[in-house]
Amino acid sequence: MNTTNRALSIIAFYLSEYDMKAVNALGFQTRSEAINSISHNVGNGNNYLKLRRDEFDALPESSSSRKGWRNRPPIREVVEMAAYLRQFSFDEITDIVKALIEHEDSIPVNLTDSQNDSVLDTVDENEFESLINFSDPTARLVVKTETGTYRVYNQSKVVQLKILYRGCCQICGINPVAQFNTNICEAHHILPFSESQNNDSNNIIILCPNHHRLIHKLKPDFDPEKLTFSVKGKDILHVVLDYHLRRN
Ligand SMILES: [Zn+2]
Ligand SMILES: [Zn+2]
Repeated sequence: MNTTNRALSIIAFYLSEYDMKAVNALGFQTRSEAINSISHNVGNGNNYLKLRRDEFDALPESSSSRKGWRNRPPIREVVEMAAYLRQFSFDEITDIVKALIEHEDSIPVNLTDSQNDSVLDTVDENEFESLINFSDPTARLVVKTETGTYRVYNQSKVVQLKILYRGCCQICGINPVAQFNTNICEAHHILPFSESQNNDSNNIIILCPNHHRLIHKLKPDFDPEKLTFSVKGKDILHVVLDYHLRRN
């Protein structure tokens, strides 16, 4: 396998490591049901997920009872990803995997549901980002969509992706406050949510506050193939740390 789909690789690790426990936690009955449905949602052939799961199965530390693909030594990426992902608990990685899989369709909501909603009528990107990054993530955030209906914004994706990166920025690759053992990185929508209304994980990047400000200031274009930001055709910033964006 020469191509790399980072999100599917995480899911493949999860299915390898936890097998039926993972299948059931995602709401599926059988392995093949899980593979087919996830591949469909994440946008890749079923074979990819299956083959990559087999590669994780074949790792010497694997707890999987399946034999896996032992024809050749595992590629470095699989070894490194498994080592990184083993830091997370089953519950943590289950939530991360759900955040990677789920695609949200606009579900109209009844605004009289709760008096405590944060309701955004016109979505100003900066105001919106400060809400998703700095407000209580358990509070309900309701946004008006292009079609004029309201939908509940799923903040859990932002929360889970921040957990996945453990405080590190995808551009500089470091946790700027590591010595304080905390996480101040922020979620940024690559295509502004106010325009795209795309809250899928492949439209969210995790950035340190400096790089986040810089991106807002320069408004560069993003190339999802190269994982670079460019201004007037010139690459100015590269994603150096990626566990979820690369899908090809
Ligand atoms: Zn940074
Ligand atoms: Zn932003």
